[in-house]
Amino acid sequence: MTALQPVRGMRDLIGEDARRHRHVIETARRVADLWGFDAWETPVLEDTRVFSRTLGDTSDVVTKEMYSFEDRGGDSVTLRPENTAGVCRALVSNGLTQSLPQKVFYAGPMFRYERPQKGRYRQFHQIGIETLGAAEPLADAEVIACGFEILTALGVAEGTVLEVNTLGDAESRAAYRAALVSFLRQHEASLSEESRERLARNPLRVLDSKDAKDRAIVADAPDIFAHLTDAARAHWEGVLAALDAFGVPHRVNPRIVRGLDYYSHTAFEFVTDRLGAQGTVMAGGRYDGLVEEMGGPPTPSVGWAAGIERLAMLLAEAPPAPSPVAVIPVGEAAEKVALSVMTTLRRAGVRAEMAFRGNLKRRMERANKTGARTAVILGEAELAAGTAQVKDLRSGAQEAVPLEALAARLGG
Ligand code: ATP
Ligand code: MG
Repeated sequence: MTALQPVRGMRDLIGEDARRHRHVIETARRVADLWGFDAWETPVLEDTRVFSRTLGDTSDVVTKEMYSFEDRGGDSVTLRPENTAGVCRALVSNGLTQSLPQKVFYAGPMFRYERPQKGRYRQFHQIGIETLGAAEPLADAEVIACGFEILTALGVAEGTVLEVNTLGDAESRAAYRAALVSFLRQHEASLSEESRERLARNPLRVLDSKDAKDRAIVADAPDIFAHLTDAARAHWEGVLAALDAFGVPHRVNPRIVRGLDYYSHTAFEFVTDRLGAQGTVMAGGRYDGLVEEMGGPPTPSVGWAAGIERLAMLLAEAPPAPSPVAVIPVGEAAEKVALSVMTTLRRAGVRAEMAFRGNLKRRMERANKTGARTAVILGEAELAAGTAQVKDLRSGAQEAVPLEALAARLGG
């Protein structure tokens, strides 16, 4: 029979890959916890409308990347392509719109049907945080600063740059859109086909084009700052001042617009040049209308998501493989004692392993293969004395230790 493969664009995480992945999640969870964000888990599968209502008709995600299908009951469901919409849906479904602000951390798989390449998969994973129900510029700055601390804790902040922009409020954006469209119309003939289409449907997205010719045109496009209303400008300046106060280095980049349509005011990305074309590691912004789209009250919110695969690739060093204590019994009676010795060690927080079979030599070979640093050898003489030989597998040094002292000796 032919061996089966994972679905295209999806991959198994094993060994070092799994350790890198887990390290990213655990580090992020620890930092987010210190910043007051609570972990939420929402379902991987949602009513398709959770995304079609919110991500915008012109976003790449909705137009071509969603895994949507009819379930056996005839309902249209979608494997979540991102988690912000799901978190907003959960806020409303769980009646939490009167208990604001809510500060949320999440981690989990996302699904997008896009062309697989390095750093781009069809099942990928994100960590993210959201602050729901806070309109203050301080909320924008806090989620960004927490993101920066997570990157710092992972040791990847040094190679990344925070780029921030504002998309203003609806009034600012309408004025800016008019100015942008009139500029882009003058260059319409030279724009890529995709950008010409975006010009008609969602002109701000032209700023996000990856096409080299488009980028050259866009470099001279007007930026939004001249079109900000007083309120939008005050918000923007408040965010920048709070970022300074948090000590988060940043660069203003008027070309940052996010791929999803729900953003207003702050938009930002942490980018790196160490991942080739897939240079965005963390991205987000303010989305003030999303909770309403889910049937809730107006709930100004802000957050970001980061690709775990990209963060895992950036880690300077892989988290080390665990190094167990190898328990090595000699003879049947010793094997029984070994089981209770292992339980004692494991309860004391020591990773303990024993081969399922084999003589002393075989089990020693196996211990070396698993990267054990220490062997606990239980022979007949040791059993009689109520001790074990504890052998340092690197130096070869060996000494007898009473069984009841093993956990204290090997713990930590
Ligand atoms: P891109 O411009 O790279 O397609 P995006 O705007 O679609 O990114 P977001 O929806 O903002 O990305 O997702 C946030 C982060 O999630 C990205 O910055 C990236 O790190 C990660 N990400 C997005 N899509 C993928 C994917 N298909 N595979 C791996 N990581 C991804
Ligand atoms: Mg994308």
